[in-house]
Amino acid sequence: SGYQRVLEENRKLYNQVQDLKGNIRVYCRVRPFLPGQPNRSSSVDHIEEGNISIIAPLKYSREGKKSFTFNKVFGPSATQEEVFADTQPLIRSVLDGYNVCIFAYGQTGSGKTYTMSGPRELTEEGQGVNYRALGDLFLLSEQRKDTICYDISVQMLEIYNEQVKDLLVSDGVNKRYPSRHYTLEIRNSSQNGINVPEANLVPVSTTSDVINLMNLGQKNRSVGATAMNDRSSRSHSCLTVHVQGRDLTSGSILRGCMHLVDLAGSERVDKSEVTGDRLKEAQHINKSLSALGDVIYSLAQKSSHVPYRNSKLTQLLQDSLGGQAKTLMFVHISPEPEALGETISTLKFAERVSTVELGAARVNK
Ligand code: ADP
Repeated sequence: SGYQRVLEENRKLYNQVQDLKGNIRVYCRVRPFLPGQPNRSSSVDHIEEGNISIIAPLKYSREGKKSFTFNKVFGPSATQEEVFADTQPLIRSVLDGYNVCIFAYGQTGSGKTYTMSGPRELTEEGQGVNYRALGDLFLLSEQRKDTICYDISVQMLEIYNEQVKDLLVSDGVNKRYPSRHYTLEIRNSSQNGINVPEANLVPVSTTSDVINLMNLGQKNRSVGATAMNDRSSRSHSCLTVHVQGRDLTSGSILRGCMHLVDLAGSERVDKSEVTGDRLKEAQHINKSLSALGDVIYSLAQKSSHVPYRNSKLTQLLQDSLGGQAKTLMFVHISPEPEALGETISTLKFAERVSTVELGAARVNK
């Protein structure tokens, strides 16, 4: 009806304005069912632009459905290329001197690593945001080479149990990088924007440089893990891209920095069932994810106090969260009905940090 259309237009307009205004964007991505899984019905009822509606039993919603609004929702058939296309402008702004943070949030198995890196057997079309982002920065810096000379380098860190480790360290075979296996310090006041000065900083200029480093980082990340005990889902990994551009006419320098973060699994661990190391890990993950949520929430609320100091993760990202920096959170959900509890808590987390949710939801009703 006409009324519906007006509401729809209002909502679109509202979202567009929010897109321009807010520095915090939230994209939701739904993983497809995996090959070999029995055919089942998805807990996603429908997806329309920025809206996603979930089939929720009465425990969660009186209507039997629950809707959420984000800047964008990618359904199970969205390709890596499509996801990247909507991320590209943000990434490109790093070359203009902006700081950017991109997160992948969601329960273990929901597709975080797929979005950021890609599937385990990596193909070119499977490449995730990390590879495409660097490839795009190389391309764009090449296009600008007559006016600006760019240096691009990367660090790769892991935060596990509130300790920061370097992932770009020698693996015994590859001796090119010094090994630093101890816990690193975060220093937020550095002049060059490098806040973990001890971590290896590696210049990159080609896609194959990036592939080699990602492989090394991946290898180092899984040290100590076994099939039953996959540490990577219980640590945060962060690929940080440092960009320095020198204007060839004026000689002035600009700096930009981008953090690409694959977060630890957000699933609630039943505290009555785990003890020892697992309990400690779960507590650290809880603490850091809620610290991250609190930081983004206070930024979204334009609050005067932003609690960066509450976790290593938020400390690490401090210079790239808030101010002129741009933030994008990919929230991932699994389609399986068994995952519904986690799916709903993931969407609620995302809704809390999102700047579209309130107004848009109201207009939409
Ligand atoms: P997480 O990092 O959240 O633990 P993964 O990225 O490892 O989850 O994804 C779990 C499994 O699902 C992997 O086998 C991955 O390749 C597959 N997968 C995730 N997202 C997609 C997608 N969008 N399309 C196809 N397969 C996917």
